[in-house]
Formats: sequence, structure tokens, C-alpha cells
Amino acid sequence: MTHSTGWTAARTQASYDTVVLGAGSMGLSTADALTKQGQTVLLLDRYDPPHAFGSHHGDTRLFRMAYAEGAAYIPLLQDARRRWLDLEHRAQALGLPYRPGDLFAPIGVINVSRESGALAKEVQDSIDAYALPCERLDAQEAMSRWPGLSLADDGVVYLDSQGGVLFPQACLTVYKEACLAQGAKVMVGQGRVWVDPVSLDISIDWNGEHFTAKNLVVTAGAGAKDVLDSQLGLSLPLQVTRKTVAWFRPRAGTAPLRSVPPALPNPLYEAPLFPGFLAESEQGTFYGFPDFGDGVKLGRHDGGTPCTLDTVDRDFASDPRDERELRSFLESFLPQAAGRLERGSVCLYTMTPDEHFVIDYHPRYDNVVIATGFSGHGFKFASVVGEVVGRMVTHVDAGCDLSLFQAKRLTGNMDDQE
Ligand SMILES: Cc1cc2nc3c(=O)[nH]c(=O)nc-3n(C[C@H](O)[C@H](O)[C@H](O)COP(=O)(O)OP(=O)(O)OC[C@H]3O[C@@H](n4cnc5c(N)ncnc54)[C@H](O)[C@@H]3O)c2cc1C
Repeated sequence: MTHSTGWTAARTQASYDTVVLGAGSMGLSTADALTKQGQTVLLLDRYDPPHAFGSHHGDTRLFRMAYAEGAAYIPLLQDARRRWLDLEHRAQALGLPYRPGDLFAPIGVINVSRESGALAKEVQDSIDAYALPCERLDAQEAMSRWPGLSLADDGVVYLDSQGGVLFPQACLTVYKEACLAQGAKVMVGQGRVWVDPVSLDISIDWNGEHFTAKNLVVTAGAGAKDVLDSQLGLSLPLQVTRKTVAWFRPRAGTAPLRSVPPALPNPLYEAPLFPGFLAESEQGTFYGFPDFGDGVKLGRHDGGTPCTLDTVDRDFASDPRDERELRSFLESFLPQAAGRLERGSVCLYTMTPDEHFVIDYHPRYDNVVIATGFSGHGFKFASVVGEVVGRMVTHVDAGCDLSLFQAKRLTGNMDDQE
């Protein structure tokens, strides 16, 4: 696909401080950080973001502060949360039609597990490590607070009051408008990049035009493995995975909320009274969102079908399991949410073997920064990843510990790679 939509055609300047390859969640936030520093930036993408062909569509993303993936993430999360709130102020300063809560709705997230479950322990560890303001409820307490929940006797719920819901299309629209206002140029289409091994100059052929740059950032999401392999001589063990989400209309006014007549909509799962949720169960690990007006959204975090950006089956329900496994979880845990299927969607995770991100320099080029492998939990970090990658490009101290995200943990000695 080669086209240029609302984006400015990049014809005025043939040389840039930095080219950002992949203008999605991480690419736009990085370009925002770099243009704020006064850099000239060219953003390249196959599609015009926000779009529905990568990892950032589907309306909503969870922001969790009590982080089962490891307490090491929490300083980044604290910074990220401040930056999302700040982005809402910036949206208003840019004259965009977003109000507080349109980018980030701080409605809390519940983590649902068994008392002996791994999720309960991991969440408790992160709470203890950073004294996070979380509330622990047993099954009975949780079901009386949220009558739409159905839990086993040994169920446990952690209410993460700093958690909430991000709206990625709105977030990326603000970043995109900020980048354009700060002078970034964007091109939608196809091409290739390469690095001169001696001078380290970056060259780009894109839509038949040629550009050069001092620095390159690779934030190509589900396309990163191919770009790194075929254009930059770096093989990372990234696996793209097909993921499905669906929106279900709660059944009208049924027990236990008997005061609601059957003909009226069921308020049991409505935002902001019902929070976002992450639940570990025998059926798998599921996450979801309260009803913002178009139903309860549910997705499964584990599992998924390996694919590539180009081979993924984008048709929800082409596999009957797409709806069946989601509905089955709802029947057990949020039984009155398991009403009519409103719609489904297919999205992509880019997984690393240990599910931690890759944020690092290319092993041979210290003017090439890679941010990829966000393993299905990266969006909430985009606001801080952009800042961190921006500092790496300019070789300023990143201001945080990035050792968990080094590429060499996945590749061994990368000097051995061609
Ligand atoms: C169903 C689903 C639910 C999720 N839920 C959550 C959640 O609740 N909380 C959370 O924090 N995270 C969540 N995530 C993960 C999060 O959305 C991703 O980690 C994040 O969006 C990844 O950002 P990215 O910039 O790497 O990818 P993207 O936002 O997809 O950006 C990559 C960009 O690169 C472009 N591109 C690819 N190949 C090329 C190429 N060769 N040339 C040019 N451009 C290219 C793409 O078009 C795209 O615009 C979820 C993901 C999915 C799929």
C-alpha cells in the first residue's frame, strides 16, 4: 500500500536528525519526545495511524499499577501515569476536542485470582515493594461490592485504585497532532532503510524518494522482526500472535440486581462503577473492560495463534473458538455480561520469549535504537517509552533502569550476528 492521507508529504527536507520506522504507539510517542527537543524527525509507516492493522486498535487498554509482570516495571508505570494525565492537558492546549477522561479514565482495575494463585502472589509482591494503594477483598466482599462478579469461595480480588482505562486511538491522535505541530514529517507507504557500516549514516528509500538521517528508531511493532532481520542484520526471537477481543451486551435486568426491570439495560457492568479487570482462571488469563456504552469487552491474554503481520487471519470468528472461549469465561465470572455478541476484532501481540520488552541499541550501531517485543502489555508504557527512547537517541541518561529490556538476554553475544 502506498498512499499519503492527512499526513504532510516529506519532500522539503532530504536529511533528518532521526527517522522513526513504525508510527504506532511507541513510534509516535518517541517522535513527540524528539521533536520537543528540537530534532527534525521523519516518521514512516505502512498505514496511517491510528489504524486497525497493528497492535493499538480495539478502543481500550488497561493501565495497571500493581504489576504482576514484575515490580521492576513500577517506577516506569508511575512516570507513565503522570505522562498520560499530562497528555490530556496537552490535547486541550492543541485545541483537540478531548476532555479529562477521554484519554485515561482512572476508574481502577481489579485483579481476580484464587488465594493460592500466581497472580495473587505477583500482585501482592508488587504492592509490598512499592506500598501501592490497593485494597484486598475476599470473594464475598468483592461480590457484594460488584454484584456482577461470580467467584469461588477462595477467590481473592485486589482493587488497584491507580489503575484505569486508556483509549489508544485518542492517545495516538494527540501524539500525532503534537508531532505534526512540532514539525515532524510523516510518510505512509513502503520502502527500506539501511546503515552504512563505516560512516553509520542512515539511508532510506521510501515511496521512491531518498532520505538520509543521523539516527534511526525501529518501533515497527508486529513488523519489527522482519525489518530487523532483512534490513538491519539483527535476528531477535520475536513471535507475532493473533489475538481476539469481543464486546458482549449484558443481559437485561436479571438477578441479582432484581430492582432493574428486565426491559431496562443492565447497569451491573457499567463504567465507572465497574472497573477494568484482569483475571487468572483455570480457563486461562482474561482481561476486560466495563461497559462504556457498547458492551463489556473481553480478551484472553495467554494463548493465541502464531502468525505474521502479513499472514494473520483478521476475520474474527473464522475460528469458532474466538467467541466460545470468551463467552465461556464470562459465563463463569461475569455471568450476566454473557449476552449478545456485539462485535469482535483481531489484534496482534509481538511476543518475546520471556514477555519482557526490548528497548536497546542495535548491537553494532549506537545510532539505532530498537523498541519492540511489547508482548501484549506495552500500551500503558507508551507515554514513558517515547521519552526514554528519545533520551537514548540523544545519548542522555535514560533516567531509569532498562536492564530488564536489553536485547542481549535474547540473543546471547550479538557480535556473532551478521
Ligand atoms: C488485543 C490487544 C489487547 C491489548 N491490551 C493491552 C492492555 O490492556 N494494556 C496494555 O498496556 N497493552 C495492551 N496491549 C498491547 C499494546 O497495545 C502493544 O504492546 C502496543 O500497542 C505495541 O506498540 P507498538 O508501537 O510496538 O506497535 P503498534 O502500535 O502496532 O505500532 C507499530 C507500527 O509499525 C508499523 N509497521 C509495521 N511494520 C512496518 C514496516 N515494515 N514499515 C513501516 N511501518 C511498519 C505498523 O503499521 C504500526 O503502525 C494489547 C494488545 C492487543 C493486540
